[in-house]
Amino acid sequence: SPLAALNDASLLKTQGLINGEWVSGEASFAVHDPATGLLLAEVANLGASEAEAAVAAANAAWPAWRSKTAKERAAILMRWFQLLTKHADDLARIMTAEQGKPLAEAKGEIGYGASFIEWFAEEGKRVYGETIPTTDGNKRYLVLKQAMGVCAAITPWNFPVAMITRKVAPALAAGCTVVIKPAEQTPLSALAVAELAQRAGMPSGVLNVLSADSERSIEIGKLLCESPIVRHLSFTGSTEVGRILMRQCAPTVKKLSLELGGNAPFIVFDDADLDSAVEGALASKYRNAGQTCVCANRLYVQEGVYEVFVEKLAAKVAALKVGNGFEAGVNQGPLIDAQAIAKVQHHVEDALAKGGRLLAGGKPASELGAQFFEPTVIADASSDMLCAREETFGPMAPVFRFATEADAIYAANNTEFGLAAYVYTRDIGRIFRVGEALEYGMVGINAGIIATAEVPFGGVKQSGLGREGAHQGIDDYVELKYLCLGDI
Ligand code: ADP
Repeated sequence: SPLAALNDASLLKTQGLINGEWVSGEASFAVHDPATGLLLAEVANLGASEAEAAVAAANAAWPAWRSKTAKERAAILMRWFQLLTKHADDLARIMTAEQGKPLAEAKGEIGYGASFIEWFAEEGKRVYGETIPTTDGNKRYLVLKQAMGVCAAITPWNFPVAMITRKVAPALAAGCTVVIKPAEQTPLSALAVAELAQRAGMPSGVLNVLSADSERSIEIGKLLCESPIVRHLSFTGSTEVGRILMRQCAPTVKKLSLELGGNAPFIVFDDADLDSAVEGALASKYRNAGQTCVCANRLYVQEGVYEVFVEKLAAKVAALKVGNGFEAGVNQGPLIDAQAIAKVQHHVEDALAKGGRLLAGGKPASELGAQFFEPTVIADASSDMLCAREETFGPMAPVFRFATEADAIYAANNTEFGLAAYVYTRDIGRIFRVGEALEYGMVGINAGIIATAEVPFGGVKQSGLGREGAHQGIDDYVELKYLCLGDI
């Protein structure tokens, strides 16, 4: 097992964490290595009753946690940050084992994930209120920002650590307590990070983790949504599940932060630096085997540079090394499961049947294992293809041709999603015109990688609600309270 080589074997936790205690529940579920299909661990399969206990523990822990000063909370968060950094090699190893991404990428995610804890430990000290100039000499107006209470976080498998810290760190820094339900494919990363929170001195009940398989995840999700004690739900995952959770949260009028699907356009104009655009497209499209919500899904290239661009891109893509994420020099690991392979294959076949021109890849890399897919480039893509409408979430780049700036903007915005978009051009006027016209929460301009803890990450339209990271990232976890002081 790739987990035999951990420096600190006690980071491998297979139980859930409730009120500072590791709990087994009554059953367990299997976690597999997507590269080999081998069993990695049996993990506690918790359900509604454990979720109820976790919510009660978080609620009981809340008064003491919110009463600490922001500086005291920051001290614990900074220790947690330092422990993630110190154990980065082991955490990356656990992540590659259960998620599949190349070890260097996994290590990068540990740094990125840890950076949210550092950032929000600092930001927690700057949750400033307001005084408002009075319009009545006998009164004074104040605004406080206070911790919301118990927060729930439901997280996906594509970033098993960063999607947790991005939600949990601002919640904890603000003085909230949390219950986390990590993805069933990647509970080991979540539990290792929780173990480090314990070591950092997190008080019991402040951070709870409910591991569960897909069936029990639904049961736990329902309980978290319906609980009147839970004040806020943060979810990252598919738009489809986001809608279910939103509906389930309606009866308790819960605050929601949702980071849902994308369908990112990647637009290359005639005047772009083509080599830089190709590098940006490679990074944006094939990182994590195309399994990120900000991955370029549709490449739009202007007619004057179209042929040169697709040739350069196909050459680079053909040179990517696919394999087990633990192997040196691997650029692309396995996809997460059989369904993910089936979806990419379906999108590729659909595109080829509708006139797409295959320039690289095109089929599962079965010689490597059941869940590998060749990095693929398809030219002459058209708007009737499935990949034009749906997020492929895999290593396939369809390249569309366009004539004018207006055509590119229209095509880019012609989707219900609005998370990330990318534009390559050297024209300063066009940068502003296109940057402002794109209906997206984030726009990379001559940049294929844009996420970092300091900036607001999130989408518009059906890509979600709220922003994570940045100083704004803490807003979702505090309530405004207006105090009116009379009899002055
Ligand atoms: P993905 O397509 O990335 O797997 P999902 O939206 O299916 O995204 O899953 C993201 C997270 O949502 C996971 O933690 C999963 O267990 C959880 N989840 C999926 N369906 C439900 C549901 N009906 N209720 C609550 N949680 C769910």
